[in-house]
Amino acid sequence: MLRGATARRIAHAPCQPMCPMKKDNTSRQDIFDKANALTPKPIAFEALWDGDTIGWHILFNAITADHCVHWLGMLSGGGDIRVFQGEVPPWPEALRANAIGQELALRFNVQFHFPSPNRPELSCPSWLERHKAFSCRQCSISLLRSSPEEFKDDLCDHCESLERQKQREAQWTPEQRSGPRCSVCSAPATTQFPPKASVLGYGPACATCTDKYTCHVCKRCDDVTISLEYMAPDQPCDQCALQEAIEGLSQSQLDIIYKTTNKRHQIGLVGEMLGIDFIQAIGVLERLIQTKPNDTT
Ligand SMILES: [Zn+2]
Ligand SMILES: [Zn+2]
Ligand SMILES: [Zn+2]
Repeated sequence: MLRGATARRIAHAPCQPMCPMKKDNTSRQDIFDKANALTPKPIAFEALWDGDTIGWHILFNAITADHCVHWLGMLSGGGDIRVFQGEVPPWPEALRANAIGQELALRFNVQFHFPSPNRPELSCPSWLERHKAFSCRQCSISLLRSSPEEFKDDLCDHCESLERQKQREAQWTPEQRSGPRCSVCSAPATTQFPPKASVLGYGPACATCTDKYTCHVCKRCDDVTISLEYMAPDQPCDQCALQEAIEGLSQSQLDIIYKTTNKRHQIGLVGEMLGIDFIQAIGVLERLIQTKPNDTT
């Protein structure tokens, strides 16, 4: 699941929760090596936020004189749990992106475009689209509308939610204002999420949020999920459901996969057999190869 309106700008497939190892940070050296190898030379560098169900990350790109965008790497500082635990801001990936970007800008004597260095924001313009953007009237962040209805008050989502929160709090009693807040929506809390949800940073809750969200504990791995979708108590989590499907592959299906020498075909086969997408299939194939018995060829 992609957040907000980002899908329009993403030039690569986003990582799925099942292969968090694909989220490894690109090193500064890798980014520099890729930038140095570009022809024609870069005329700008940009850092743009992107997000999926695991959390936020920053895409680092170069724009060359022919106005092509080249992906140089991805910077990630951890999952969404950091938000609940109050570890961010500052966002360490943003600090890194800024440092690398400034260094590259100096080295190549070009602009570094990082429209939202202080917090994740999906609607910022890329360097090529920057002239189409407007500024939030509160925080001045540069934003791009995907439709005329978006950002009607010239406020970014962040400033709009602060404004809404202010209006809501104005209606609360002094007791509600000083009491515990719902860990999802910040309304006055009247109840609690199940104790297991505390590992995800959820504690106090309002009645609306406890109605809306299901707290699910996977019977197989004990993992806790909070989701808008109803999950039956005996339903495995997504990871375990996939693991069960992998375990359900027959020996002849496994033989077919192992005997296929072309990696792309192997990924395609795994995807077809398990009914999963390409990115997930890459993760599953890695797992299958790791657990492949030695006597199988
Ligand atoms: Zn703003
Ligand atoms: Zn709530
Ligand atoms: Zn599980």
